[in-house]
Amino acid sequence: MSYIAEYIWVDGTKPTAKLRSKAKVVADGDEPGIWGFDGSSTNQAPGNASDVVLSPVLVIPDPVRGGDNKLVMTETLLPDMTPHPSNTRAGCLAASEKYKKLDTWFGLEQEYTFFEGIKPLGWPDNGFPAPQGGYYCGVGADEIFGRPIVNDHLQACIDAGLHIAGINAEVMPGQWEFQIGPIGTPRVADELWLARWLLYRIAEDYKGDSEISVSVRLDPKPVRGDWNGAGCHTNFSTNQMRESYEPNIAAAEALGKKHDLHIANYGAGIEGRLTGAHETARFDQFSYGVSNRGASVRIPWQVERDRKGYIEDRRPNANCDPYTVTRLIVETVGAAATARK
Ligand code: ADP
Ligand code: MN
Ligand code: MN
Ligand code: MN
Repeated sequence: MSYIAEYIWVDGTKPTAKLRSKAKVVADGDEPGIWGFDGSSTNQAPGNASDVVLSPVLVIPDPVRGGDNKLVMTETLLPDMTPHPSNTRAGCLAASEKYKKLDTWFGLEQEYTFFEGIKPLGWPDNGFPAPQGGYYCGVGADEIFGRPIVNDHLQACIDAGLHIAGINAEVMPGQWEFQIGPIGTPRVADELWLARWLLYRIAEDYKGDSEISVSVRLDPKPVRGDWNGAGCHTNFSTNQMRESYEPNIAAAEALGKKHDLHIANYGAGIEGRLTGAHETARFDQFSYGVSNRGASVRIPWQVERDRKGYIEDRRPNANCDPYTVTRLIVETVGAAATARK
């Protein structure tokens, strides 16, 4: 007997990489090993030297096919087994190992929007739904669009053994969120990419009101105007931050000193989302504050009360690369923490 291993990788599309996957039949008892693909079809290689290597980094049960089948998260390598230029995981792993002593944990809040054809799921064919206000964590068919997909995805993530922390309906109708963590990186980013893949895949099987299949978009500003964008708030803590309050402030200060570097790497189209309205701080200004959802970085109120915990970087876009976002946070906060000692 054999099982099916679905190999998943991040491609080289710019400015926002896409997920790709293909299936391999593996003999029972064998592990999913090194594999490859045609990089000239994924913006990852020229046609005359097209081989790119897929190297497994995380193997989980496949909750879509079920049985003994597997999902295989991979990183891309060149034929000489060094990281492919589009591989952002390798740098993330190196940063995580450099600052291993800080044992940084991440909790990623992935926001996303369901689309049916060219409009968000549940939106009228002409015009707009009622203004924002009642949709966030709402209930009822007039406010909630796509819940069966969301519940299916949540259960699939649990069945696959991912560290999914929860789900909620978001501020704009048709918009939702799931959270992965808290765990270290690059594991948290591996899991976020796998959870994104599961979401895209599960939504394929659903049809919206007009019998058009539902798609998922990580567009940071899917509808212009007075509608919330979609982010990937990145909560994090070092062991020092989990033990006392001052390192939480120091981490926020350190992020402020590298604001432009982080903004430039937090996802394409970030200027369109971080406008200063809709629970964001402007992309060209840095701020932090307790309970402040209009700041770049929020210190949760419990963290101030408990005098320890974690902070939330609210800047990353929904379409960010979590390997890059978590690498930058590890490096910025790690360098500052090391310099303070
Ligand atoms: P919000 O109130 O911003 O919507 P959420 O509940 O959606 O917050 O997300 C908070 C995230 O923070 C969760 O994914 C959770 O796992 C994560 N988290 C909690 N404690 C820590 C910690 N000590 N370090 C890093 N992340 C944490
Ligand atoms: Mn949240
Ligand atoms: Mn949210
Ligand atoms: Mn948040």
